[in-house]
Amino acid sequence: MFQKLKGDLIIVGIIIVLAVVFFLINLIRDRQSSGEGNVLVVRDGRVVESYPLSEDITVTLWDEERTHYNLLMIKDGSAEISDANCPDKICVRSRAIARDGESIICLPHRLVLSVHSERERDMDAVTG
Ligand SMILES: [Zn+2]
Repeated sequence: MFQKLKGDLIIVGIIIVLAVVFFLINLIRDRQSSGEGNVLVVRDGRVVESYPLSEDITVTLWDEERTHYNLLMIKDGSAEISDANCPDKICVRSRAIARDGESIICLPHRLVLSVHSERERDMDAVTG
């Protein structure tokens, strides 16, 4: 009876240790997924530029007629629109993006910024 209880406790202990290990692995993976990858600049549904999140830059994204601009700022692994001459300024007020799949949309300029991690890009390369 006592032996069996001891055995159960060991199993429970192992499960708790495994749960903690998996939790830590996920925590580390989450941290790594932020700040790596690229910001894709999509205009009218076409990818026109790509910038790595790892490099701090500020770049003005002009449309083809050079009448509409969005100022893209990448800093500390996240990207945001810090200025634009669109009427609604929703893109400027949008919060910074850093994780895979996050995006900022500027409807008046038909512009989308979205984050793609390296992992996602590898998958795209295989399928298409
Ligand atoms: Zn906008």
